[in-house]
Amino acid sequence: MPDQNIAALLHELIVATRILANEKVVDAFGHVSVRHPSDPKRYFIPRHRAPELAEVADVVELNLDSEPIRPTESRLYSERVIHGEIYKARPDVNAVCHHHAHVMLPFAISGREIVPVFHLGAVVGHVPFWDQRDEFGDTNMLVIKPEEGASLARALGPHWTVLMRRHGATVAGTSLRELTFRTVFGCDNAKLLSQAIAHGHVDALSPGEAKLTSAHQLRPPSMGRAWDYWVRQVEKAGLMPKAPKTAAASKSAKPKPATKPKAKAKKQWR
Ligand code: MN
Repeated sequence: MPDQNIAALLHELIVATRILANEKVVDAFGHVSVRHPSDPKRYFIPRHRAPELAEVADVVELNLDSEPIRPTESRLYSERVIHGEIYKARPDVNAVCHHHAHVMLPFAISGREIVPVFHLGAVVGHVPFWDQRDEFGDTNMLVIKPEEGASLARALGPHWTVLMRRHGATVAGTSLRELTFRTVFGCDNAKLLSQAIAHGHVDALSPGEAKLTSAHQLRPPSMGRAWDYWVRQVEKAGLMPKAPKTAAASKSAKPKPATKPKAKAKKQWR
C-alpha cells in the first residue's frame, strides 16, 4: 500500500482516538488501534500516552504478538495484547478500542446484561462478559499476557463488544468509522439503559428490531454522517490533528505568483 494511504489511515486513527476522547469514552486510559490494510498480520497503535494527546508521530506498528516491527524506545501500552489477540482470532475485525467508560462500568461491575434500548444502540448487539478471575485468579487486572488477551478474544467470540468484569469494555469494528460509531453509541445505550433501570422498567428492542436497525445504521451514509458530526466537535474543541500531506494538497499548497488586482475587479467590489 502506498505510503500516502498509510499516512491517511494513521491520521484517521488519531482522529478516531481524539473523537473517543472528546466524547468522553477514553480518558487518561484506553486505546484505539487499526489493522494494517495490506498486511493483516500487523496493526498500528499509538505509544503509551493518554489518547487525547496521541499524535500520528506516536503511532507504532506491531505484529499480532503485539511486538514492534521496528525497534523502538517508546513505552507501549501494557494491554496491547487485547488488540493483537483479537486481530488473530477475528480476521473480519480491522479496528479495536479498549476503554473504561464510566457509563458501561456499572454493567461490568454488576454483571447485568446490556441490551439495546434505543435505535442507535442496536449496534452493540449481544454483549458477552469476560472475567479475568475465572481463568487467571488474582491478577493486577491488566490484560498483559498473550494468553489473557486470547481468553478475552474467545469471550468476544463472534460479537462486537465484550464487557470486562470490574474493568471496562473492548469494542471491535470492521473499520475505524464503524468502531467509532459502535463505541460511542454503545456508551449512549449503556447510559440510557441505566436510566431506564432507575425508572423501574426496561423495554428493549426485539431481536428482529435490533438486527434490522443495526444493519441500517452501519451503512456508510449513517456512519459517515455521524463521523462528520464528531469530527466537527473535535475541530470545535481544537483537537483536530494536522492533515497528512497528499500529492493534491502539496500541489495546491504551492504559493501562487503574486498578481496585482485588476482595476475592473476593484471597481466591482465597490
Ligand atoms: Mn484497561
